[in-house]
Amino acid sequence: MSVIIIGAGPAGCEAAYRLARSGESVELIEKEAEIGGNLNNWYQLFPDRKQAADLKAKLRKNIEHPQIHLHLKSKPVAFSRQGDGTIQLTLDDGALITGKALLVASGFRTFDAHRKEEYGYGIYENVITSVELENAFINHQINTSTGHAPKRIGLIHCVGSRDEKICRLYCSKLCCVTAVKQAIELREMLPEAEILCFYMDMRMFGPGYEEMYREAQEKYNIKFVRGRLSEASEDREKRLIIKVEDTLVGKPLKMTLDLMVLMVGMEPAEGNDQLISMLNLQTAPNGFIQVSDPHSGTNCTHQKGIFVTGCSSSPMNLTDTLTDARSAAVTISEYLNS
Ligand code: SF4
Repeated sequence: MSVIIIGAGPAGCEAAYRLARSGESVELIEKEAEIGGNLNNWYQLFPDRKQAADLKAKLRKNIEHPQIHLHLKSKPVAFSRQGDGTIQLTLDDGALITGKALLVASGFRTFDAHRKEEYGYGIYENVITSVELENAFINHQINTSTGHAPKRIGLIHCVGSRDEKICRLYCSKLCCVTAVKQAIELREMLPEAEILCFYMDMRMFGPGYEEMYREAQEKYNIKFVRGRLSEASEDREKRLIIKVEDTLVGKPLKMTLDLMVLMVGMEPAEGNDQLISMLNLQTAPNGFIQVSDPHSGTNCTHQKGIFVTGCSSSPMNLTDTLTDARSAAVTISEYLNS
């Protein structure tokens, strides 16, 4: 009997590979037609600027392991247990999969920026998200809606995170460093542009992050303004007029931008609530899956034999996601051998 993994993003692929290497057979279920999850929307990784496509290729190669059976375009629709505890999962194509343990690696989705209407996403053409900027990097093209190279670009931190108005109090952890990385990439592509990051406070906790932040200021001349965007509007030339409260000097600030990038945070994955309900799991206060203990049970849920990894339980960066997936594989191996 196998270990069932829901989600073939970085966490699911890494856990599948580690479990297969330790002798387990794995049923890896992915709702999309391709593996990789949110990694597919990334151009370069931080802090080493490694190509996201290279990491995905490595994950892809790893899951070609003979012990891993990949189900693409598949979603679980029903869950049950047999008397001996065996897990049964029915997929939307009618297939029935049984397993000794189940790992949820369903990941996250990015915040829908339409919900911050005052920022003008979906209303003004020159307001884009950090995900759309990554795609522009992949295509090597950064232009305004009128086809010009932007002369002044603002990156807005904490969009969909740390925001009482939309009931998202948590920090998404990776958008500060993403903003710094994207600001540097913009500088390399547009050496003449003025680039500003508007932040609440800088959360650069990972190895190499602080150095990258310093380099962004000293070597790449990125300006960091401590302040929160209150609203955006548009002039006749489709330039954006933004109002920001500069919280360091305590003054309101008004300026025009050619392009505004919203650093969208993380939300629980699409279908998270249905999955929690189907598997009889618990929802954490931040809407992600509740783990059994925040210190010693970070890969365990309140259901025996059901485990969780990566951003299914809370926002985390890619490095921590891969580490967490290896931790989940060890936890499951111990459970199966106990
Ligand atoms: S990582 Fe930075 S931008 Fe993202 S939510 Fe936390 S403080 Fe805001």
